[in-house]
Amino acid sequence: MAAEIISGTEIAAQIREELKGKVKELKERKGTTPGLVMVRVGEDPASVSYVSAKSKASEEIGIYSETIVFPEDTTEEVLLAKVEELDKDPKFHGILVQLPLPKHINADKVLNAIDPRKDVDGFHPVNVGKLLIGEPYFMPCTPHGVQELLVRSGNSPEGKHVVICGRSNIVGKPLMAILVQKKKGANATVTVCHTGTKDLASVTKNADIVVAAMGSPKAITADMVKDGAVVIDVGVNRIPDETKKSGFRLVGDSDFDAIKEKAKAITPVPGGVGPMTVTMLMANTVRAAEMHSA
Ligand code: NAP
Repeated sequence: MAAEIISGTEIAAQIREELKGKVKELKERKGTTPGLVMVRVGEDPASVSYVSAKSKASEEIGIYSETIVFPEDTTEEVLLAKVEELDKDPKFHGILVQLPLPKHINADKVLNAIDPRKDVDGFHPVNVGKLLIGEPYFMPCTPHGVQELLVRSGNSPEGKHVVICGRSNIVGKPLMAILVQKKKGANATVTVCHTGTKDLASVTKNADIVVAAMGSPKAITADMVKDGAVVIDVGVNRIPDETKKSGFRLVGDSDFDAIKEKAKAITPVPGGVGPMTVTMLMANTVRAAEMHSA
């Protein structure tokens, strides 16, 4: 039987509706409008488009957002001074510095200057540590989105063996920290794989849930997945496609067409994890406003 296709677009829309309700309540009960400020340095096209998507989502939900754009040659000192100013600005409950930053700026130094209670990306070391001990202010958006996709599609990771392929600081490692907690919607047995893993297929074949976050097109093939497994594909890869106006199309890290014939459920690319990432940023901003007005 063909797999259920887990629609990130639909689940994200459902979460955005819930967030609209929370924003309305915050405005009515506390007189608080959640505020998000985004800082972009330079004109990297991907960064321009990500920030614009976040700004549109904010507007849709009722979050006040501002984007501050600095020229490419801005110094680290100027950027740090702006972050420190925003830390103190009560209008903004969330601060996001869009990565990557130009090479002459130390990104870690800038991210570490964000007040952890306003760090809606969840990248500050304080938040990374708090995530590991199960008391996060904010969960990083993409891994949190993966957890929501699993739970809301009726594929809770509780008691399951989850194999995460990829150990980056933004996806694989924080997802491990989220799913291993003794909590509802988590409580999984988690294995994390990477390029040092000797026989990846022998590990993924034992998984109830496979999360592909490697940045390698179609790296997870049907023979690496057991019958009835759930596959969450985080990967976003551009491959050449002459039939497209852009000259490329997006594919994930898994062989979607073959795997959907044997899996219980699978996420598509695009339309799977992608829409969840921006939505969980909105959720974190609303949470930040709730924390500040508590
Ligand atoms: P990354 O920093 O490049 O990390 C990739 C990880 O995968 C590394 O840990 C690497 O192992 C591992 N890996 C790569 N090839 C492998 C292989 N053949 N076998 C086993 N492990 C392998 O990537 P990332 O930032 O986590 O992103 C991963 C993918 O998700 C990318 O396609 C990215 O575009 C996508 N992404 C999507 C969203 C979204 O919102 N949809 C958000 C973030 C990322 P080593 O550590 O040993 O090098």
